[in-house]
Amino acid sequence: MDKLIITVAPTGSVPRKKDTPHVPVTPDEIAETAYRCEQEGAAIIHVHCRDEDERPTSRFDIFRETVEKIRKRTKLVVMTSTSGIAGQTDEDRATPLRTNPEMGSLTTGTLNFSGRKPSVVYVNTPETVQFLAKAMLEQNIKPELEAFDVGFVQQGKRLIDSGLVKEPAHFQLVMGVDGGVPATPENLLHMRNQLPPTATYVVAGMSRMQLPMTTMAIVLGGHVRVGLEDNLYLKKGALARNEELVGRARHLAEDLQREVATPEEARAIMGLPARR
Ligand code: MG
Repeated sequence: MDKLIITVAPTGSVPRKKDTPHVPVTPDEIAETAYRCEQEGAAIIHVHCRDEDERPTSRFDIFRETVEKIRKRTKLVVMTSTSGIAGQTDEDRATPLRTNPEMGSLTTGTLNFSGRKPSVVYVNTPETVQFLAKAMLEQNIKPELEAFDVGFVQQGKRLIDSGLVKEPAHFQLVMGVDGGVPATPENLLHMRNQLPPTATYVVAGMSRMQLPMTTMAIVLGGHVRVGLEDNLYLKKGALARNEELVGRARHLAEDLQREVATPEEARAIMGLPARR
């Protein structure tokens, strides 16, 4: 089994300071969180940025400052988000890739967030997905193929077949998003069993399913993603800090006798070149 790669997703686009004081939103706060999470065992940081009013943004100046500050303070693999904001053009969504990250997230399909009022459709047309995949291919950025359901894995495999994503590919199995595949052990195994044999994968469990899905991924030989983007709590009623969630994943891995990868080891496991 490979060493365990821990990804931290510290910010996301949803939580605000009023929801938890621990969510980092400025470039300095995100860089400080990155440093603390690296100390606790993280190897990758999945970066979302916010504007001055905490709203999600793809602004180049904010992403550039954030990525530079993370790089100055840590050796983490930097992965920028391309999830964008409703109504953005494909070019807007590709803006964070201009900061030269080593990885970029790439959702492979469209999802109904049907539980929200009003409901939200997270639109990723085949044309948008192909546009973002091509941008990453041209800039030598490794995509993390985000799968919210089984069919999303299929759509990721299609990108590989068409040559837009190189093998070995890296998938993120997102378990328990509203409107996506429910976070159960059976569903996780089923999703994993659809992956190409050479692929690596990271499991992201939402809310209170973060801990059980993390545990399963450690046992299965997958990798894990934790952080406030997906889950605000350590346990019921106890708000978490990002570094606490990372530390908990590392302790779990140590208890289960699986070693944790450094950022450099994570690069080797995923076939990335040494740090740029
Ligand atoms: Mg994200």
